[in-house]
Amino acid sequence: MITLPDNRKPVVFSDFDGTITERDVIVMIMEAFAPPEWKQIVHRILDERTLSIRDGVTQLFHLIPGSKKEEIIRYVNENVRFRQGFEAFLAFCRESDIPFLVVSGGVDFFIEPVLAPVRDQLEDVFCNTATFPDNRIELGFPYLRADCETCGQCACCKLGIMSRYPRDEYFHIAIGDSITDLSMARQADLVFARARLRNYCDEEGISYIPFETFDDVQQVLKDRLAVTHA
Ligand code: MG
Ligand code: ZN
Repeated sequence: MITLPDNRKPVVFSDFDGTITERDVIVMIMEAFAPPEWKQIVHRILDERTLSIRDGVTQLFHLIPGSKKEEIIRYVNENVRFRQGFEAFLAFCRESDIPFLVVSGGVDFFIEPVLAPVRDQLEDVFCNTATFPDNRIELGFPYLRADCETCGQCACCKLGIMSRYPRDEYFHIAIGDSITDLSMARQADLVFARARLRNYCDEEGISYIPFETFDDVQQVLKDRLAVTHA
């Protein structure tokens, strides 16, 4: 087990879409199954930032009939790839006794099949949920907190999950790529960022380590945490 000089224990909070996976799976699903309106909704979430994550993902999945569920799952299983180094990084975390938590603004019905092969190596998975009434896809937000001021109308409140691991006992490592990770990046002890999250961090003056693969992340953590293997 690693303990830092200040006696805190490292814990990893990782985004799913575009972080664990090479591409954002919501975008992949929209490209394959939704009419073109999805692009305008994504633009309002990510660029204009005039649409909350919760309302935005709700609108996105309303574009697709619920009858597509099985087809979407098949598509995801055939096309989604883990980012380079992900499985090796999980092995590193396990050997080093570093809990790895998935905190995602995505939805259970496509996240669970992707993560199934590595599920036993994950400390926990937090994401939004879906039901399929009357040929619709309706999202549920079990981790949305009414009182979260920092992330506003986040869908899966990543800060709420982080707060389960008190800062005086745990060293928070956040890994992400986009807007849903910004609230974690504001508060984590160490931030790994790629893609749009780098721009958001730059705008707010949040320091981060850029990464493209989990090999990058592993190398930095080995150095920073002085991990030694027997
Ligand atoms: Mg993401
Ligand atoms: Zn929140």
